[in-house]
Amino acid sequence: MSPVEQIKAKLSIVDVLGSYLTLEKAGANFKARCPFHNEKTPSFFISPARNSYYCFGCGAKGDIFSFVQQFEGLDFVGALRVLAKRAGVELERENPKVRTEREKLYLMMEHATIFFQTQLSTKDDAKQYILKRGLTAESAKSWRLGYAPLEWKALSMYFKAKGFSPADLEKVGLVKKSDKGSGDYYDRFRGRIMFPLFDSSGRVIAFSGRQFESDGTEAKYLNSPETVLFEKSKVLYGYDRAKLEMRRMGYALLVEGQMDLLMSHQVGLTNAVASSGTALTLDQLELIKRLAPRVVIAYDADDAGAHAATRGWQLALQVGLDVRIATLPKGKDPADLAVENPEALKETITKARHLINVELDRIVLQYPDARERGLAIQNELLSHVAVLESAIEQGHFIGSIAHAAGIKEEVLWEEVRKRAKNSLLQQDSAPGTRPQRPGSRRDALMRPLWGLYFWLENKDKEALKQLDIYQKMCNIVGNEEVTKSHEIVSQSKDELIFEAEVSFQNSTTIATTVAELFRSLEEEWLRERFGQAMKELADAEKRKDADKVLALLNECQNLSEKIRAITHQTPHL
Ligand SMILES: [Zn+2]
Repeated sequence: MSPVEQIKAKLSIVDVLGSYLTLEKAGANFKARCPFHNEKTPSFFISPARNSYYCFGCGAKGDIFSFVQQFEGLDFVGALRVLAKRAGVELERENPKVRTEREKLYLMMEHATIFFQTQLSTKDDAKQYILKRGLTAESAKSWRLGYAPLEWKALSMYFKAKGFSPADLEKVGLVKKSDKGSGDYYDRFRGRIMFPLFDSSGRVIAFSGRQFESDGTEAKYLNSPETVLFEKSKVLYGYDRAKLEMRRMGYALLVEGQMDLLMSHQVGLTNAVASSGTALTLDQLELIKRLAPRVVIAYDADDAGAHAATRGWQLALQVGLDVRIATLPKGKDPADLAVENPEALKETITKARHLINVELDRIVLQYPDARERGLAIQNELLSHVAVLESAIEQGHFIGSIAHAAGIKEEVLWEEVRKRAKNSLLQQDSAPGTRPQRPGSRRDALMRPLWGLYFWLENKDKEALKQLDIYQKMCNIVGNEEVTKSHEIVSQSKDELIFEAEVSFQNSTTIATTVAELFRSLEEEWLRERFGQAMKELADAEKRKDADKVLALLNECQNLSEKIRAITHQTPHL
């Protein structure tokens, strides 16, 4: 058996996907909210019998390999590594024939890691330093810490002996070209303790080097530049080991630096990930959000204060994460506390409070003067409230702020509404929603309906008549749109029939699924029209066309009521 076959024989699709998603039983199948598009009701189905999954909302489909690839953003080999580890299947350690350029780059990172590890094993003062910081020799080995000697070409010579060129090394950011125009290269990392950064399958993709002996630069930490393997904004340090724990515990522990991360894991906080000193990005937050609804942030108290107002933490609130702050004693970072008193660290994490409450307390304490306090709330706090998804949550916090600061709730609401218009997510693209051309979500919803239509057309005319798919589509989006759509889907008729057959063969829930698809389609269509009406409204306001403005306001209100009615009548699944 090939490794792929062995893995498939050992792992059930339900166990693998169930370690990433919350599954519900649905007859012989399971369903979940799709991780690949934004949805409130589950349309992502898993069939244990067919060993496959299929999403009616966005058309995602495949097996455990394609799922892990897409979910973790890995290539096939990466997914293979993740699943082989789960299944306990041994992969051949090193493939002597590197097939692709990408594999060559991974191989170079592996060689470099081994080189740095070997260097560390003979560098006693660096080893002592690591132990003094509290890290055990086992942890250092497990996280593959290393040492880059204070020489210009130590690493380059090592690679030269293995037949790699400086140009190869430059591709993975391990050397730099000399400024002098000589075309010469020198090692990027010199005199540094090396922390390898891993992708979610555990392959080394970059390094962070902490200064140990002066290399003539000021930087305490030096990171690899962006390379083919390393997109800084998409990597969380420790994610490869923390991901399943994050999901199991329902939250991620977010720390700032490498040592914080290593020490957290060492004392058993194995759901910790680190942002490595950079501002949090949407991609990183999405990595967390897909696995856990909550993030507990444990930064040094001073750093936490400085970060609280930044975009990153606000983005975390805005993507819908429950953001809690673990308040550490002043001047201590999680690494210090993990060394001195691991139980105290764990306790501050258990007692973590919501970001907005923590910030409110800080402002009240910092500004005894009522006017200054009001200004601070306006400038530093209300933008956090404005980005919350749920109006109920907003109301809760506005209540607390009004009470603590002695400001009227109405005034706070008005400020919050003003801010909601300048939402950060309108500048970025929302997480979970891949960039889509207009109407493509509607297309995605109509696809399975067309599939069913074409499939039943040949197979079961009576069932087709009962489901009345064509007419119902016309009722929702109109004859003209249905005709247009029919023209487009007719080109991939065979594929659609196949999809329908895979999804609906022997299914006892066709009627419910179809009803749900129609409901989503109607909602989507109303949202499209709502968006269009809002655009026209803005234009009419610019032209100062009062009659048109009034008519459009009415239409918008109408549509939004209909949307609300539909979203509320959704049966709770
Ligand atoms: Zn989907």
